[in-house]
Amino acid sequence: MKRKKLLKRKRPPRIFPLRKKFCMFCVEKTKQIDYKDVNRLIRFTSERGKMVPRRVSGTCARHQRLLAAAIKKARFIALLAFVHK
Ligand SMILES: [Zn+2]
Repeated sequence: MKRKKLLKRKRPPRIFPLRKKFCMFCVEKTKQIDYKDVNRLIRFTSERGKMVPRRVSGTCARHQRLLAAAIKKARFIALLAFVHK
């Protein structure tokens, strides 16, 4: 019984406060995401060419959906790579 308590440790307090993430597209009030705008789309992909998840980039659900569709379109017409080796 005592041992169980010892195993359950409290998480150390955060040193840095959580930074509020925001959706870049909401800030600019973008309604459509252009699949031809490669320079912008590339910022939302990882080094390997994967899409950056919402929890990392801070994009809102609506814009992440549009973004995913735009990235897929851009990949299909070879503006973006599916994967970087
Ligand atoms: Zn948004």
